[in-house]
Amino acid sequence: MRLSGISMLNCHQIEEFIDSYLDESLSWRRRALFRSHLLMCRECRSYIGAYKRTVALGKKVFDDPVGPPPDDVPEDLVRAIIRARDSAEK
Ligand SMILES: [Zn+2]
Repeated sequence: MRLSGISMLNCHQIEEFIDSYLDESLSWRRRALFRSHLLMCRECRSYIGAYKRTVALGKKVFDDPVGPPPDDVPEDLVRAIIRARDSAEK
């Protein structure tokens, strides 16, 4: 089945639009296409799941460098961030 006037996105385009999708800057039409691809494509669902976790982890570390680090962040990285923060404050 093909909806008239709407072409489906392919997996490559999903990769291209993933940033805009996650920061909600896609137009509603692109967003709808993106979602419908995700509904049909298991590979892209797992891809976007992994991508989201990576982005969320990055945000967590950089938004709150003094808070307790998530368990799966390497301690070296946390120390480096805290060092960078401390030297920036001096
Ligand atoms: Zn796909």
